[in-house]
Formats: sequence, structure tokens, C-alpha cells
Amino acid sequence: MLREPLTMFCYTDLSGAVRGKGFPSRLLEKRLKGGIGWTPTNLMFTALGTIAESVWGSFGDLTLMPDPDTRVEVEFGDGTPAERFYLCDVHDTDGTPWNCCPRTLLKEAVAALKARTGLTLRATFEHEFVYAGAHARTADNYALDAVRRHGAFGETFLAALTAAGVPVDSYLSEFAPGQFEVTVPPLEPLAACDAAVTLKEMARATAWRLDSSVSFSPRLSPDGLGSGVHIHFSLWDEAGDPVSHAASGPHGVSARAGSFLAGIVRHMPALLAFTAPSPVSYLRLVPHAWTGIWSNIGVRDREAGIRICPTFGQSEEATARQFNFEFRAADATANPYLALAVIIRAGLAGLDENLTMPDPTVGEDPEAMTPATREARSIARLPSSVDAAMAALAADATVQGFLPKPLLEAYRVNKAGEFAIARDWAPEEICRRYAEIY
Ligand code: GLU
Ligand code: MG
Repeated sequence: MLREPLTMFCYTDLSGAVRGKGFPSRLLEKRLKGGIGWTPTNLMFTALGTIAESVWGSFGDLTLMPDPDTRVEVEFGDGTPAERFYLCDVHDTDGTPWNCCPRTLLKEAVAALKARTGLTLRATFEHEFVYAGAHARTADNYALDAVRRHGAFGETFLAALTAAGVPVDSYLSEFAPGQFEVTVPPLEPLAACDAAVTLKEMARATAWRLDSSVSFSPRLSPDGLGSGVHIHFSLWDEAGDPVSHAASGPHGVSARAGSFLAGIVRHMPALLAFTAPSPVSYLRLVPHAWTGIWSNIGVRDREAGIRICPTFGQSEEATARQFNFEFRAADATANPYLALAVIIRAGLAGLDENLTMPDPTVGEDPEAMTPATREARSIARLPSSVDAAMAALAADATVQGFLPKPLLEAYRVNKAGEFAIARDWAPEEICRRYAEIY
């Protein structure tokens, strides 16, 4: 059959969908220089496929400008067309970054952190997902047989990730039937977000070739188990040395990392408007489901909002290099660039103000504390609905300031458009619809 190789230029939109336009691959050289045309109102596509009210209407033009470092070309060797795409920034037609570009927002947050503190972040997004072709059974958690029964998916997925330039650290069968988890090593923030986007696309690309599907949706049924996206991060200085750890600091946390975490804790309710931004997010963020529903920093606690992760081995150097934190109240309905940008900005606000880290919890359940104790320890219940998360954003002028006004407004209107449609859906319906999308 005749074939013309096709390359796509894509960006990740406000609800985390990867959208863009394609062209014959033989025009790549020209397109790498000039990009491809895009339309401002496309930013108002909601997660549910509608177009929210747009200030741009039918007017204006933009360009999707590819980042050559994000090139993906993956041949599955089964006769299907290769996966060929680049991730892009959104530019105005004069070549400057558009003030509503999510990838640019992250770059600017990284640059601000570096300029003001000399620090950078290394981050990784730990993904859980459910594979429909898993031949799942009860008690599949961590089972060797579950990996066997899900057939070629795992090995093909891992090969696709390697071919796409996403290094894999581990792969496993998670708690829920058909649920798997993949982790990748920490990268600098932009590369970490690009890897998160490519990883989900490679999972979808693999499942599609096996006549099946995957879902990264935070909950597939109201009474099932959740799929989270845990955002791990650590701080590094300009010399490339780790600075999150101090042997003498509380639970090994350095003063600078403590201020960074304190900033996140202070703004965490509003951050959820970006990290857990859908109605379905809050079917996952429920008590005692191994997700973060409090703004606490917990020592090796998988129900903390921020977990101080374990390190392995005894040398001080290894500890310092491994030492990292995990933001657990995030999921795949988020745009990773927005999510990491606001986390960095909140951390930077903590550093700017030289905040002291609230006392971490050690083997304690915030739910069992009195409200007075929680308040004294700066532990807030995180929003329990997407409306509450948007209200927390509306009440937090600092977090609002993390985004240029037009992007913040577009985000609010886009999300409001999505929520209005989902408003009357029962939990089952929410799960069903979002499973299809994510
Ligand atoms: N599936 C849980 C979540 O929704 C996390 C389980 C784990 O700790 O890996 O976040
Ligand atoms: Mg997990």
C-alpha cells in the first residue's frame, strides 16, 4: 500500500491532551525552522471535547515551534506507521513565545528559580495506569503472573520508550487488577515533563497496536483503586551537587529544601487546581487510599501530601544524591508543565520568604489529630472536590500570580466549561467518561 511518512508537531493543552498538526516528513527541515500554524482558540478545547468560551474567537494566529530535543521516531516493526512527532512551544507569529504556552511557563519558572537562588530541580513523574488487555485477575498486585498474562504489552512498551529516548527505571504490576506502574529516572524539569508526555503516548501507541487501550485516569470506578502521578523532585546547585539533604537537618532535610517544601505546603490547596484538576481527580483523593489528602510532609508516608522518600545504602554521598520528595496529589488529568511550574513557583516563594519547614509527620495520621494540632503544624485538608480546588486558587493571589493573566483566565474558563458539562454526572458516569479520555 502507498505510504507518505507523516510527522506531527504537538503541544500539551490545558487538560493534558497532546494535540497538533502533521505534514509530510520530507518537509521536516523546512518545518523545523518555521513550525506549523496554530489557532489561539484551540487552547479552549476542554477535556470533554467542547470549546469553552474564547476571548480570541475566530481571530489570530500562532505557531507550534518544535523543540528538536523532543524528537520521537518509533518504528514498531509490525507494519503500522511509525510514531513520529515533536513536542512544541507555542509562539506568536513574530517568533516570541505566546504568553499562554504551558511549556514556556515551565521554562520561565525554572529560569526564575535559577536566577534567584542558583538552584535547579531534578524531577520525575511516576505513572500508574490500567491496561485493558491485561487478562487481569484478583490478587494480581505485584504478581509475576500478571506481567506474564499482560502479554507483549510490557516489553513492547519498554522498547518503545527506549526508542523514544525515555529511559526506564522500573516496571511493575500495581495493586488494582490490570494496573501497572512505570518509573523513569529524574531529569531536569523540561525534559521530565517531555518524558511524561512521551511516556503516555508510547503507552497508548503500544496498546493501540495490540488492539487494546490504556487509561491513566485517576479512577476507573468509584470503588476501585486510583492511578496517581507522583511527582518526585530534588534540588541541585550550579555545580551539579545535590542540596536537598543535610545530615543535621530535620529528617535529613536541608534548610533550603525545607523552605522550598514550606512554600509548597503553604500553597498546596491552590496548587491542586493544576495538579488534580478534574472531577475524577477527587474520586481518587479520598482518605486512606495511599494518596495525599493533607498538606503534610510525611517521612516515608505514602498518604502524605509530600513524602520524604527513602534512600538506600549508607554513604553520605549516596544519601545526598538519592534524597528526594514526592508530591502525591497529582494525576494524569493535569498538564505536567503547568503542574511542575506551579510547584516550582510555590517552592521558590518559600525560598524567597526564607520559610521554615513545618514539622514533618512521622507515622502519624493527620486525620487523627485535633484541628488545633493540625493548625499548629500547618497541616490543611486539601480540597475534596475540583470546585474546592478552584476556590482555593481563587483565594490565593500568590498562586494566581504564577501564571500570566491571560493564561490564568483561559485556564479558569476552560476548566469551568469542562465542569459545567460534568456537573450532574454520577460518580460512575464521571469514571466512565474520563477513562475514555485519559
Ligand atoms: N495508586 C496510589 C495512588 O493513587 C498510589 C499507590 C502507591 O503508593 O504506589 O496514588
Ligand atoms: Mg504506585
